[in-house]
Amino acid sequence: MSERLVSVALPVALDRGFTYAVPTSWPSAPEPGARVLVPFANRGLVGVVRAAAPERLDGARIKLLEEVLDPPGAPSLTLELARLCEWVADYYVAPVGEVYRLALPGLLTGHDVRRVMLSEAGAQALAAAREVVLQPIDDTGLPTAAEQRVLAALASAPGGELAVERLIDLRPRIPGVLRLIGDLAVKELCTISWEDAGGEGARVEAHYRRTDYLRGAATAEETLREHIGRSKQRRALLDLLEGAGSWVAAGELRGPFPGHKKLLEPLLAAGLVAVEERLRALDPFAAGTIEPTLPQTPTADQAAALATLRADLEGGKFAASLLHGVTGSGKTEVYLQLIADARARGGGAIVLVPEIALTPQLSDRFRARFGETVAVLHSGLTPRQRLDAWQQIRMGARPIVIGARSAVFAPVPDLRVIVVDEEHDGSFKQEEGVRYSARDVALVRARDASAVAVLGSATPALETYESARAGKIRWLRMTTRPTTRPLPEVELLSLAVHRPDPETLLTGRMRTALVETVAAGEQAIVFLNRRGFATTLICDRCGALHHCPDCSAPAMTYHLGRNRLMCHWCGYIEAPPERCMDCGEGELLHGNAGTERIELALAKDVPGARVLRLDRDTSRGKGLLETLSAFRRREADILVGTQMLSKGHDFPGVTLVGILQGDHGLGLPDIRASERTFQLLTQVAGRAGRGDRSGRVLIQAYGINNPAIAFAAQHDFEAFAAWELDKRRELHNPPFGHLALVRISGPDQVAVQRRAEELAVVIRAAAEEVRRKHAEEPGAAEALPPLQLLGPKASLIERVNRRVRWQMLVRASSRPPLRWLLRQLRPRLGDAGSGEFKTMANVDVDPQSLL
Ligand code: ADP
Ligand code: ZN
Repeated sequence: MSERLVSVALPVALDRGFTYAVPTSWPSAPEPGARVLVPFANRGLVGVVRAAAPERLDGARIKLLEEVLDPPGAPSLTLELARLCEWVADYYVAPVGEVYRLALPGLLTGHDVRRVMLSEAGAQALAAAREVVLQPIDDTGLPTAAEQRVLAALASAPGGELAVERLIDLRPRIPGVLRLIGDLAVKELCTISWEDAGGEGARVEAHYRRTDYLRGAATAEETLREHIGRSKQRRALLDLLEGAGSWVAAGELRGPFPGHKKLLEPLLAAGLVAVEERLRALDPFAAGTIEPTLPQTPTADQAAALATLRADLEGGKFAASLLHGVTGSGKTEVYLQLIADARARGGGAIVLVPEIALTPQLSDRFRARFGETVAVLHSGLTPRQRLDAWQQIRMGARPIVIGARSAVFAPVPDLRVIVVDEEHDGSFKQEEGVRYSARDVALVRARDASAVAVLGSATPALETYESARAGKIRWLRMTTRPTTRPLPEVELLSLAVHRPDPETLLTGRMRTALVETVAAGEQAIVFLNRRGFATTLICDRCGALHHCPDCSAPAMTYHLGRNRLMCHWCGYIEAPPERCMDCGEGELLHGNAGTERIELALAKDVPGARVLRLDRDTSRGKGLLETLSAFRRREADILVGTQMLSKGHDFPGVTLVGILQGDHGLGLPDIRASERTFQLLTQVAGRAGRGDRSGRVLIQAYGINNPAIAFAAQHDFEAFAAWELDKRRELHNPPFGHLALVRISGPDQVAVQRRAEELAVVIRAAAEEVRRKHAEEPGAAEALPPLQLLGPKASLIERVNRRVRWQMLVRASSRPPLRWLLRQLRPRLGDAGSGEFKTMANVDVDPQSLL
């Protein structure tokens, strides 16, 4: 009889699926997408059955599946999503286990964090069973031998309680332990709870606070070292708590510090952090009632776009469109009305936004239109809330989902519409782990679900724009704003002509404009893409910069609020030295100003101005929402910030936008430097004049004639695109060619370089093979080779956090040879070597950043 085999995706770092056999006693094999418990390296692991054929490794002993955790006919992942995971794993050369993990809430795939508690009845049943000398027969009502083992394990655990994970790993193993726990719970012999179960309307959460103990004192550094050791994470955590100045909810630490519980232990023990329990308000995105709104009568542009999209929706086939509308042209209203149509047909929708926490008013607009049928997936959700939301989506109770990139995997039944708002935004590309582009995955998902995909932007990514121009996707344009406000006037100020004040970076014109705006009772936004107080500390004697000990990045950034030097590359934090570390004498002066210094300078320089700041330092969790809504409520006149300001905010009171260094970032050795600068300037400028008064924009820059700046000032996307696309075409860069970036890193420079060379040999050989095949085709002699290798070379910042980084770029004239090459390369990626000489290699397909 032939063996039934399945391939299982497991949450381990290895880049492959694992083959298991289905026990012969099972009537059928579990479906793709179903969760299963399997034995793995002497442990029990929860995995997902893949939508891919199992590999038979000759000679290897194949183990049996232990249990199926999902009910028959209801696998956790639908077949559609399991197939999407396979596509992502293949296309992005990503470990399949990590991909499946992206698609499911952590509580379903990670370690089983549920806890099992012995009940009173359970304790009695155990005692009764122990008195019976002979093994009880089923109908005695006493627990079976296996059940007794579970109960006994609970009884001997502290507090009569154990994590399910522990029960799975008990030695010797208890076969079918999960089913046993379920049976015991039904008989009320035990109870099961989640680690952080929800209460009614509010729940208790630990809050942490730094005590005053550490502030400033010279001995503090030594005390810190003693309790913290070398852990940067721990130091950064402590610094964050100190910087907050008030209580911080433990939940807020989860994002920046995944292991915050472990990190906190010694800090709590040493009394450096205090903890208190409080009732916490629920999800900020779910709280509060929202006034319902009605659809607005579409403008002519909106009506035309909607007519096309509605026809696509009616057709019930896959269709993709670029909704190319200037800032404020009413793209959101188009999404809303299209989704209303999908709902009327019983379908669901996904709306992907760059950073959900930055755009609370966008989710509010959806909730105002669709009420309780909207699920907002954001990073502030607890694992339990995330699971709840996922289940509500899955059951169809919330058919409209708004979220950042991972929401592309939301289990929406009968998906009809996928919107990617601000589709050009770099945050749709995940840069770590599974390096996927949510925008591109959205298109693949829409294709497989025969849904309508809408990519919206005022400044489309050049890849999207070129697809639209070439007719591969539809191009819907909206060139006017529904409000009578025209696009803002933009004035360029050459920094070579108008000298800026070295302290504030403001030119005289900029300062006057700010003073006028504030005096008129209007609001202004000041943009500088550099957080912190000063980017550097420079010695006034020897000119030495203060560097991070673990990175080769240019210099550390000084943060005044916390009086700390911080490395923005690796997170290293230290108190600034009194004197220059190099010459031991010089005083340290502040170099280039950052947002923090501008904030202070503006408050001094612009009479009567109330100034707020928005950047990564001020924008954890609630702080961010508070800053944004305080500014919208006009509790401040000027908002200073970094690129967070460019993300779709709607501040009706803003009439002036000032950009302090328009060419910051243009000099980076990255093919997208111009594109990013153009997008950023256009988006920031688009924040002006959205209310009933018209707006203006002042851009200070050295290179005011650079097309990225000049065309942004003219709101001329197409002229910019034509210029930039010409450059790209010439070099066969995207969208005319395809890139994959191979990165190699490790603690030892020689080992990293050697590994890079080894991989380069493989790539060159493959490129040569492709070229030979290609050479036989007509016209091949003049064409560029199908695959080119650039590098290997050290990355721009060669050392980050004590790891050396090398990279090489593969450029392909078309997809098929690139995919073929990546399949060759795949088994050679991952970890190699050991100890100090260990190196790590991975591939970033369609990289967004080449730095
Ligand atoms: P975008 O998403 O393109 O930046 P929004 O959808 O935020 O633009 O629209 C900008 C402003 O115009 C919003 O205040 C919105 O309420 C308003 N608006 C959009 N469509 C209409 C319409 N058809 N009639 C009147 N006002 C509209
Ligand atoms: Zn560093």
